[in-house]
Amino acid sequence: MSDARDTALLLTEADVPPVLEFNERGDSPFLFTCDHYGRLIPRVAESELVRHIAWDIGIAGVAERLSKEMNAHLIAQRYSRLVIDCNRPPGVASSIPMISEATTIPGNEGLAPESAEIRRHEIFDPYHRRIDEIIDAREHRRQPTVLVALHSFTPVYAGIARPWHIGTLYHRDRTLPPLLLQHLRAEGDLVVGDNEPYAVSDTTDYTIPVHGEMRSLTNTGIEIRQDLIGDQAGQQQWAERLARILKQIEETLRTEMVI
Ligand SMILES: [Zn+2]
Repeated sequence: MSDARDTALLLTEADVPPVLEFNERGDSPFLFTCDHYGRLIPRVAESELVRHIAWDIGIAGVAERLSKEMNAHLIAQRYSRLVIDCNRPPGVASSIPMISEATTIPGNEGLAPESAEIRRHEIFDPYHRRIDEIIDAREHRRQPTVLVALHSFTPVYAGIARPWHIGTLYHRDRTLPPLLLQHLRAEGDLVVGDNEPYAVSDTTDYTIPVHGEMRSLTNTGIEIRQDLIGDQAGQQQWAERLARILKQIEETLRTEMVI
């Protein structure tokens, strides 16, 4: 049984589909994902949406520009992580959070299990099913896939300022994260986080463990600090910088026959 508030979160014909894609025909080996691209929440108070907890501020603009710069396929989730977090295993507490940072999420309190299941069915599943299909199709046509999950992080968390401009987040991949760290450090003007401010794990992440690691793809996550990409100029700068670095890395991966 679900009440009216729960059913109001269902997607109807008036809502946009959850999956958004750019550059589907891109010939780059890089496949970008953006789990926290969007902030759409049907019928929820707007006041929660401007805060970082609803989405990853700035990353949508970086991801779109990076996809264009590299002629790389980007797949993004339009709905907010507050509806269902597409980078969490379904069923864990942070999948449909009742509290995020110190803020209560009113639409998630007392949510019926059936309603949680519907969110998964209508928002989480189509996104991850599509990522699977994309990787299958690339394998079929022998286009290599280097999976990069794009995120951004809040500059201050629980009252503590974070020093990093950018961080790599990873778990089992031993190829791409060290290469990326090396290139980022060589830029000279960046404080680079090595699995900071977050590391990847099987219980706190979904996209990298499931699509990257279980399918043995070369992979990494990237986290950019939100104040650096809050406007279009910052998003463009970071997209250009990352495109330049990732193209160099692509050459290395080809030379070393990783792709
Ligand atoms: Zn994120």
